Amino acid sequence: MKIVAVGWNYPDHNKELDYSLMPKEPVVFMKPDSALLKDGKPFFIPDFSDEIEYEAEIVVRICKLGKSIPEKFAYRYYDAVTVGIDFTARDLQRTFRQQGNPWELSKGFDSSAAIGEFIPVEEIPDIHSLPFRLELNGKKVQTGNTKEMIFSVDHIISYVSMFCTLKIGDLIFTGTPPGVGKVAIDDKLEGFINEQKVLGFYIR
Ligand code: MG
Repeated sequence: MKIVAVGWNYPDHNKELDYSLMPKEPVVFMKPDSALLKDGKPFFIPDFSDEIEYEAEIVVRICKLGKSIPEKFAYRYYDAVTVGIDFTARDLQRTFRQQGNPWELSKGFDSSAAIGEFIPVEEIPDIHSLPFRLELNGKKVQTGNTKEMIFSVDHIISYVSMFCTLKIGDLIFTGTPPGVGKVAIDDKLEGFINEQKVLGFYIR
């Protein structure tokens, strides 16, 4: 199982990070399966970073093997969505970037891909107009809607599958809206799709 993630997919988040990047194709990276954190288990802040940030994202689950999937058929290849957190060691990412090196480890470390409970796509009116939000200690810190994405879920699936065969159980993190920030010990993170809570866990 692999975890595919997209960066720079919400214009307002791109501005927030002070990059004027507006990508022409999805910016894609991957996390290893050891990055998965689920079932409400706590996230432990690792020793190698002083700046772990949350990025709340819509996550889709692949339900069918596919290679070079045309965008118009992409909807057949996922069956459920949830909210996930793309944890990022921002200090390490900055260092790796400055060195011109891959920044994989700043996003692929253990537990860096938290996911909530999946909602079947049949229960969602329109995945391309789906509101979601993240609360930190009960306070709203990120709100997004998939209609704001630069590249739609279907486009991402089509694009990624040109390069990498998608397999059943693969996960796709689709990018984060503005409002990312640092986590601290004892913080509580909760993610919602519409008004339905799908994600909840503590930082330790
Ligand atoms: Mg992200």
